[in-house]
Amino acid sequence: MYDLLIQRVDVLQIASGRPIILAQHDIAITGQRIAAIAPAISPGLARETLDGAGHLAIPGFINSHAHIAMSLFRGVAEDVPIEEWFNSFIWPLETNLTPEDVYWGALLGLAEMIEAGVTCVADHYFAADAIAQAVQESGMRALLAWTLFSGADEQDQLARASQFTQQWHGAASDRIRVWMGPHAPYTCTPSFLRRVAQTARELGVGIHIHLAETAAQVAQSMAAHGQSPVQLARATGLFDVPAIAAHVAHVTPEDIATLAAHGVAVAVTPKTEMKLGIGVAPVTAMRSAGVTVALGSDGAASNNTYDVLESARLLALLEKLRLNDARALPIGVALEMATAAGARALQWDDIGLLQVGARADLALVQLATAHIQPLHDLAAALLYSSQPADVSTVIIDGRMVMRNRELLTIDKPRVLREVAARIERLTQRHTEQRMAVYPDLPVE
Ligand SMILES: [Zn+2]
Repeated sequence: MYDLLIQRVDVLQIASGRPIILAQHDIAITGQRIAAIAPAISPGLARETLDGAGHLAIPGFINSHAHIAMSLFRGVAEDVPIEEWFNSFIWPLETNLTPEDVYWGALLGLAEMIEAGVTCVADHYFAADAIAQAVQESGMRALLAWTLFSGADEQDQLARASQFTQQWHGAASDRIRVWMGPHAPYTCTPSFLRRVAQTARELGVGIHIHLAETAAQVAQSMAAHGQSPVQLARATGLFDVPAIAAHVAHVTPEDIATLAAHGVAVAVTPKTEMKLGIGVAPVTAMRSAGVTVALGSDGAASNNTYDVLESARLLALLEKLRLNDARALPIGVALEMATAAGARALQWDDIGLLQVGARADLALVQLATAHIQPLHDLAAALLYSSQPADVSTVIIDGRMVMRNRELLTIDKPRVLREVAARIERLTQRHTEQRMAVYPDLPVE
């Protein structure tokens, strides 16, 4: 007996960067997994049915780099360069945050992601236990990392992150996993990075870090350590465990070879990179070298949305423009980066694919809209024409979390009220207090 049967839906699968459409199929879900995909499955075999006619079923999007609670700071620091963004806005503002603020900010980000068809997120933030709580309640799948900075309290931070890992890694029937989250080589000393890598090895988890975001960061790393950020990360042992490196916009061919040799996945967040004017990873070259390149949103304070499809669309357009080649980063590859490549980046085996045996993480996208019709190319419609509001129903781990645009696990009106009540306090800026200091880097 199936738990749920989605009937008469067009199904998007992606194989080796090519989209495949199974027209008018049924999808059967049992427990947390996809049990069958076939043209006509008897509804008598299912406890519940859902009419999928007029919809495209897609693997849920995977957000490979985010700071979801930064939904609270959406729009607070616009049109400013990265050092001002950090030092004058984000790091002073973040000192205002309590774990309860982080919890409500996370729920706002989670609501937005579910509404945009995102079913899994790799998050990197403080008070990650409050985020874990929000993730657990929302039904989202997540790989969480507690952000770590060098400082006087390194030992306490490591102890807290270890305890968080032991408490939450594998929680919610393995819907929540935990890796270690050193912030970046410009906020963590090499000796601290070594200790974080050692702790990750001992705990049997990976690491998630920001790397080589700007040319100035690379120049500073060369001056201070005689190594690029990528080589420094390798030398400190961060690549001896599974790793996601966010941004990685400025790399040499040697850096790319190092990432490939160590199986380090790169999470590109093109909207943030464009907005901050810091450069975008050489995605095609990385992919050709065998690096897994996935897509993220970064935080809403730089990216403004948690819409992974928007990231995929922007990256495809950027790569075509950068290489002056319309064939660069084709539709199937962009969609794969937003789904299966994200699963590979998170080293999460059974997600990112809409196929029998995989975890039932999927979204139904409504196709009867003026901006999508007529349907010459369903994959193109998804990547280049659809909008988040076209996502009607979302299922994560076999559980329906949104049905016909109604969130079933998050009380959105309450979340909006709680966030609104906090904004005045959270946007008080005292620049003498900061989470960290963005270093004075050599001019690019
Ligand atoms: Zn980030």
